[in-house]
This record gives sequence, C-alpha cells and structure tokens, in this order.
Amino acid sequence: MPLVTRFAPSPTGYLHLGHACSALDGWSRARRAGGRFLLRIEDIDRTRCRPEFEAAIVEDLAWLGLDWDGPVRRQSDHFDDYRAAIARLQTLGVLYACFCTRRDIAAAQSAPHGPEGPLYPGTCRHLPPETASARMEAGEPYALRLDVAKAMALAGALTFDEEGSGRLTAHPEHLGDVVLARREIPCSYHLCVTVDDALQGVTLVTRAEDLLPATHIHRLLQALLGLPTPHYAHHKLLTDAQGVRLAKRAGAPSLRSLRESGTSPAEVRELAGFPS
Ligand code: GLU
Repeated sequence: MPLVTRFAPSPTGYLHLGHACSALDGWSRARRAGGRFLLRIEDIDRTRCRPEFEAAIVEDLAWLGLDWDGPVRRQSDHFDDYRAAIARLQTLGVLYACFCTRRDIAAAQSAPHGPEGPLYPGTCRHLPPETASARMEAGEPYALRLDVAKAMALAGALTFDEEGSGRLTAHPEHLGDVVLARREIPCSYHLCVTVDDALQGVTLVTRAEDLLPATHIHRLLQALLGLPTPHYAHHKLLTDAQGVRLAKRAGAPSLRSLRESGTSPAEVRELAGFPS
C-alpha cells in the first residue's frame, strides 16, 4: 500500500518551527517512499480562522521547499461529510447533548483530571432525551458529547500502531466525553480529523506528541464509524534552548519572521530537525 501522509494546520496564526517539523516529517517520509503528501486546512472554527493565515500557510510551505499532491482539502467546504458522521453516531446512541458552560465544568467538584485538564464530569449525560430536545429547540447553546463508556462497550477493546512503541491499547476514556459537535459548528477537531484521514486515504499520521491522547479517541471513532485505522508516528515537541515548548513560549518565532530576519529555508529546515 503506498504511503500517504498529510499536514493539517489550522489557519489561526502563522506557522512556527513546530509546524515546520510536522510538515517536514510527513513530506519527507512520503517523498522518500514515493508516496503522497497531502495538505489539509482545518478551518471549522470560522471565528478563529482567517483566510490570510491560510494563504500564509501555503506561501510558507512553498518557501520551505515543500509540495503536496492533489487539491488542498479545506474542512469548511465539507461540513456535510461531518454531519453524516454525526448522524451515524446518533443512530448508534453514543452522543448526548450537553448544556454546561466552561465555568460549570470547572466548578464541578467531581471533575477528574485528564491529560488536557479537567474531564467532563458527566452532568448532562443522563438528562432525559425529551428535556435535552426541548432545550435544544428553545435555542440554548449546546455541545454534542461522546458517551465514551457506552461507545467503548459497543466497540470492544481497540489498539493502534505507534512508531517506536509498537501496538498500543486505546484508552479513549483518558480524555472523557469529548465534544464532537456544537450548536454553531456541526463538528469538532476529533470528528473531522478522523473522517478526513479516512476519506483522504491517509496511511500514516505524523504529528506532534501533544496529540497522542487525541489518537485514542480517534481510534474509537474509527471503530464506531467503520473507518480504517492508519499508522501513527507522533514526534517530539520542539523546545527552545531552555527546554520550553516552542508553541507555548511567548513570541516563538513564526516562519515568516525567521524569513524576514534573513534565515534561509535550509536553515529553517535544520532548526526544525530536518537538515537537507
Ligand atoms: N489542526 C491541528 C493543529 O493545527 C492538527 C491536526 C492533526 O495533525 O491531527 O494543531
């Protein structure tokens, strides 16, 4: 099976070295293997994404010397694909409407902690369906959450292959009942990434290790939606000389600021861990 990798940035800002690392990882593997490298723009949250950042992504990648195969997939052009996946999950009975605000969740005494902060404490999990429907129809903001325990019971034990670690057991419960759609956006990162990796025939997902916990949820969604499971290779996060994560560090340099200050594409590739 030919290798298919992808780079899937969100156009919420300019690319930085961490993005360059993910993009170069996927691109160089595909090019070495004679496979395909795809570019996907993850822009479902229209309030945070801007067309000028999308244009900048394309420009910065080309400046770095990367090329991609086939058309760019822009997620906001494909909401119907995600709605269809949500409908299928609804048929399985693994979604429920949640009306909690962020503040409600933070205030819940019982909220256990997961790798990304407090887990959803389950407040709305057992709302009577008629109550939930009435509140949705009344226009109250809501999120559709995955009932992870129910979904896991349906899917059974799951594994995925992570480069360097071998076969891992999926533990989707570590992220809890994640949001898969909202009133104002018919999908979420977890849903779209799972659907798109399958629709685009991605065989190896290369991305930073901060997304490894999310992969456990994606594996569960693949099982529920009857989608194939790619292989995974999560790379280490780039850090500065003090060991601080670049994406988190205030003022981590964007690729364009490096370029404006005279850094060459070859130097950026080296800084990102991919010397030519
Ligand atoms: N869109 C995500 C981000 O920019 C990456 C998604 C992925 O590689 O799975 O962080």
